[in-house]
Amino acid sequence: MRVVLATKNLGKVAELQRILAPYQLSLEGAPYEPGPETGASFAVNALAKAREGVRETGLPAVADDSGLTVDALNGMPGILSARWAGRHGDDQANLSLVLAQLADVPVERRGAAFVCAAAYALPDGRSEVVTGELRGTLVREPRGSNGFGYDPIFVPIGYDVTSAELAPEDKDAISHRGQAFRAVAPLLAEALQPRR
Ligand code: IMP
Repeated sequence: MRVVLATKNLGKVAELQRILAPYQLSLEGAPYEPGPETGASFAVNALAKAREGVRETGLPAVADDSGLTVDALNGMPGILSARWAGRHGDDQANLSLVLAQLADVPVERRGAAFVCAAAYALPDGRSEVVTGELRGTLVREPRGSNGFGYDPIFVPIGYDVTSAELAPEDKDAISHRGQAFRAVAPLLAEALQPRR
């Protein structure tokens, strides 16, 4: 079954193709330019993007919205993670700004979580959204070159390496995005079954 992933990010398409393959869902990147994320939560943004995917293509669509929530910043950057330093997608500037903001925050208050909301929407109007979370702590010096975004400063709970030091498949196995899409995939597969 063809399903549109409402993103232009090819890395994300490849990652989610791996996760959805066991459900016989064949994921395609968006053939249109996704609109801006204007909602007040990860879930609202993920649902809006999935519904936009249906409107644009007429196909079932999945979408996600994710980010880093930092305890000492009252949950920010949250939905603003991709543009925290002012320019969308400037990973280095975003990470440096968070490190500077936490400069005086001691280790016991450096808790954070990666959060991902994953949604599907169908042409008949049905939709669902689920959220995955990976908790961890933020270190003072970036380490590792895998991943993207805030991975070099995020140490998942129970690990002593950053998520940028994990192999991609090891990160997928525990990540917020992996959790959310492994939960949404069977819901979508079930919703796509012919109705009796
Ligand atoms: P979006 O879900 O594509 O809007 O991305 C949100 C932003 O959150 C990214 O630009 C990253 O800054 C951050 N982010 C989301 N997931 C991860 C992750 O797995 N590792 C590191 N940063 C992440």
